Amino acid sequence: MTHDADGLAFTHHQDTRLIHEGSLRSQFGETSEALFLTQGHVYASAEEAEARFTGESPGYQYARFSNPTVDMFERRVAAFEGAESARATATGMAAVTAALVGQLKAGDHVVSARALFGSCRYVIEEFLPRFGVATTLVDGPDLGAWKAAVRPETKTFFLESPANPTLELVDIAGVAQIAKAAGATLVVDNVFASPLWQRPLQLGADCVVYSATKHIDGQGRCLGGVVLASEAFIQTHVQTYLRQTGPAMSPFNAWVLLKSLETLPLRVARQTQTAETIADALQGHAKLVKLVYPKGRHHPQAALAARQMSGGSSLIALEVKDGKAAAFRFLNALRIVKISNNLGDAKSLVTHPATTTHQRFTPEQRAEMGVGEGLVRLSVGLEHPDDLIADLNAALDAV
Ligand SMILES: *Cc1c(COP(=O)(O)O)cnc(C)c1O
Repeated sequence: MTHDADGLAFTHHQDTRLIHEGSLRSQFGETSEALFLTQGHVYASAEEAEARFTGESPGYQYARFSNPTVDMFERRVAAFEGAESARATATGMAAVTAALVGQLKAGDHVVSARALFGSCRYVIEEFLPRFGVATTLVDGPDLGAWKAAVRPETKTFFLESPANPTLELVDIAGVAQIAKAAGATLVVDNVFASPLWQRPLQLGADCVVYSATKHIDGQGRCLGGVVLASEAFIQTHVQTYLRQTGPAMSPFNAWVLLKSLETLPLRVARQTQTAETIADALQGHAKLVKLVYPKGRHHPQAALAARQMSGGSSLIALEVKDGKAAAFRFLNALRIVKISNNLGDAKSLVTHPATTTHQRFTPEQRAEMGVGEGLVRLSVGLEHPDDLIADLNAALDAV
């Protein structure tokens, strides 16, 4: 079997590449990619086994290292991102951890934006320091703060933009320049923009990570993650770490996520369009302190959004008046929109970050990240926009 790119070249549109790129067709000529649910592979001879392990003979050995279905997913997602190489992981957090830990050793220093998904912040703030890696958290939008945090031993920068859950933006090209000047790399967690609307590698980042659990699956089924970078970055920092420590993606999950990539542009474009319609409908609502959405009048950094994102997001941040009790009344009054800490799903989901994803932080840390008691994160799904707006309005009335 060989990788069948169906005659695709980089001149083909992303939509086309997402349908065909990376396909490995077996002797049966299946149209839908096969699920190779196998831990290992048999070799025709002991010599062949030896050659696989030395790398002289191409092919698969063991699913912790690689698997045909996982390989198809990696090739397809890399083509979409415009990255030379990709490695799939069991979860988004495994991807974040691999991208960071793979580059670091005791004595190194990391600079990160402080507005982060709770688990990303745990890795930076608590996990890495346990192994002698110093970390500095900065105010992401303040480029001067990134520059001032650099030390001779700074190895990597990390950020999310838009950040979870505040949708705060960081100037990716600006931070990439500071990283380059400091001889450090930049890792961007691009989950909130989705691969459809933002291309951090083109903005100067060295590595992009996704939780494939979110928009890539898009239907709330499988956990997954992916690390994307140049072949050199993957070989130097990621490949051996993943192979030897084992946070591999299951072939079953890879198959689901591979098929999901085919519809990603359709789903995310529709979710984004609906999110924008909702933002327009609810902006200025009497029960809201604010509504943040990364586009136009809905975002204080709209010019930056226009510069580095080709579309908005499927997420909206709402701050309900009168804090936690009011936010809970709002959540509990929703009928179509479900309460869940996930995002990027076909079902619209709402979460109260202060008591869920960001619960373990002190109120001071939450305030510093912009996670107030009234903050609600809305992930817009594929339902009809009119039904969603009616549901949201009715729930706000109930506050
Ligand atoms: C969900 C999420 C992750 C973690 O992904 P998992 O697949 O749940 O491990 C990392 N970063 C961001 C921004 C996320 O939203």
